[in-house]
Amino acid sequence: MINLLSPEIASIVFSDIRDGIMVTNTKNEIVFINNAFSEVTGYSEADVMGCDPRLLNSSHHDEEFFLNMWKTIKETGHWKGEIWDRRKDGEIYLEFLSISAIKNCRGDVEHYVAVFTDINEKRKAEQRLDRAALYDVLTELPNRIQTIHYLQNKLNKSRKNHKLLAVVMLDLDDFKSTNDKFGHDLGDRLLVVIAQRLQRLIRSTDMVGRLGGDEFAIILSNLNNFDEVEQMTHRINCLVASSITVNGEKYRLTTSLGVTLYPFDEADAELLLRHADQAMYKAKENGKNQSHLFDVEKDQQAQTRRELVQQLSVALEKNQLVLFYQPKVNMRTGKIVGVEALIRWQHPEEGFLGPGHFLPHVEYHDLIIDIGEWVICKALTQLRYWLKKDLKISVSVNISARQILQLDFVPRLKEILNNFNDVPLELLELEILESAALENTDHVARVIEQCRKMGIHFALDDFGTGYASLSYLRDIPADILKIDQSFIFNLLDKRKDLALVEGIIGLATAFQRTVIAEGIENTEQGVLLMRLGCDLGQGFGIARPMPAENLLPWVKNFQPDKEWSIWADTSWEISDFPLLVAQHDHISWVKNILFYIEGKTNSFNKASLINHQECRFGHWYYSYGRQRYKHIKEFSEIEPTHISIHHLGHNIIQLCDQGELDGARKKARELLQLKDRILEKLALLQKQVVASH
Ligand code: C2E
Ligand code: MG
Ligand code: MG
Repeated sequence: MINLLSPEIASIVFSDIRDGIMVTNTKNEIVFINNAFSEVTGYSEADVMGCDPRLLNSSHHDEEFFLNMWKTIKETGHWKGEIWDRRKDGEIYLEFLSISAIKNCRGDVEHYVAVFTDINEKRKAEQRLDRAALYDVLTELPNRIQTIHYLQNKLNKSRKNHKLLAVVMLDLDDFKSTNDKFGHDLGDRLLVVIAQRLQRLIRSTDMVGRLGGDEFAIILSNLNNFDEVEQMTHRINCLVASSITVNGEKYRLTTSLGVTLYPFDEADAELLLRHADQAMYKAKENGKNQSHLFDVEKDQQAQTRRELVQQLSVALEKNQLVLFYQPKVNMRTGKIVGVEALIRWQHPEEGFLGPGHFLPHVEYHDLIIDIGEWVICKALTQLRYWLKKDLKISVSVNISARQILQLDFVPRLKEILNNFNDVPLELLELEILESAALENTDHVARVIEQCRKMGIHFALDDFGTGYASLSYLRDIPADILKIDQSFIFNLLDKRKDLALVEGIIGLATAFQRTVIAEGIENTEQGVLLMRLGCDLGQGFGIARPMPAENLLPWVKNFQPDKEWSIWADTSWEISDFPLLVAQHDHISWVKNILFYIEGKTNSFNKASLINHQECRFGHWYYSYGRQRYKHIKEFSEIEPTHISIHHLGHNIIQLCDQGELDGARKKARELLQLKDRILEKLALLQKQVVASH
């Protein structure tokens, strides 16, 4: 192309063009340069004529770079790209270079033409823009975007090298008031000082960024243990707290730090920052000038709770909640006295879920109130239906602590009841947890009084678990005490539970409240409760909670337990309770021996085993029992059998200790026979006692 131009035109073009031009021959000697070449490189024609272009080499590129460049030129006749060169004054600059091989008419390469543009300024401007986008102008620290980018990289590394990574969020305490008081210029000066201090503190592999305002993030990677993080946060707190002098005046600042740790907190970069932020707010709440570690477990629980609240409110809207009903009976009369409404979630994927799966998660959310009001409506609708079907039965509904503690509980209840004017309110019973009532006794007492005036009854549910004092029972006018099922489970085995139940029944009598036991699973528990003076009961042993439509058929077919009727006409005096307890003490003693054979217990009170006066039954028999019943024939008849069973029990334990388990098991049958004989005698004795009243 050069050859096609007239020399005049070529000379004008080459001298006026703004791009630098350099022509070399095949010996790699510079044979031509234009004016722009000299302007960019600083070399004159005299400096470079006949020289190797390598005199421009900046040493920024390795040999391979140039080999590739020449390979491309040889193969294609062209190369273009960015290259760092050196000016005559030594300054390194970036240019965009394009090299073309020029062939003669025979097709042989004769020259190379290099055309280049200085892009140094452009690149610098670009870099300045990039920097402004990634760095904070005031402190020159990386900004939020750059911090997140850096954190992402460090996270990837931590994933590979299994080292700890800490994200520390720092927020100056009360910085706004410092700003307001001393002006923004001073505020800025302080921020710059803090930024510089932080930068000096961290290791070269860590980073500190300014996220905005008085908020900084510090990323510490490659940590070995939590101690290192603690030391660091302590140092940051101290460092920020040491006074800052500006224009001769001293200023003091403090900071709150929030920390989260990867991999314990397995979140992405953005979320880690958010978690550190949450922890920082906790540090502020806890009194500022301190650090707080993000609690992963708690956060996950909170997350699960949020999701569940969401799902459950949808469930309420979509009618996925249902009520089951569990009958309550009077064991002495054999009559059904009511039902308790118990909520279930008919989950589209997981089937029926009991309240334990979802209610605790919404306990502190207003959704529990919506659910509670729905339950009342639903139960009253059901009650109305049963009344139409000639079933007059009371329905009890569980009320959550949050609901009952609402100041407008009564007006809201009245609003619901307005829609059920045809339902006698005497049939509605509200169960509140003893613990909920304890939270605000005055309020709860007032609510109960107001409801009472409308005819509604109240029960204290799970009674015995809430540590209610006697004075509290006096102040809370609930009509019914519902003995917690945990005491009923162990009624027959645990002396303390039996004593507690006995105590609650005594309390109920003294305060003229009705008492009901929940969690009755078998006949024995029911009978014992009845004999202790608690006639009302509810439990799987009577009926499980059932769908509403099953209740009418169940009522129709209900047959009271025969065992209940045996004791129905008898009443016990408190002074005879130990006789009932003694029976169960003996059953426990026998159970313990059977457990020993099966290896379920390896400790045994040997004294109570060998000496028939040392077991609990023996204690009663030779003290209180003898004083009270020694004149009754059946009482004396128990002693020989009781002595025999102790001999046998001792013998069984010895066999077990010698490893002769088969022998021990055979003897166990005999043991059970002797036990039954003692129970028979006790039953006869009890009948005599009742008859003598
Ligand atoms: P709760 O009010 O003490 O109800 C008795 C719980 O014991 C019910 O469990 C019942 O199914 C269970 N139960 C009854 N008899 C027996 C038995 O013989 N053995 C055993 N192992 N368990 C028995 P559920 O239905 O799972 O309810 C648990 C708790 O959830 C209830 O205890 C009550 O505090 C709460 N709850 C149930 N429905 C509602 C409701 O509609 N609203 C509110 N706020 N709480 C409810
Ligand atoms: Mg209940
Ligand atoms: Mg209960």
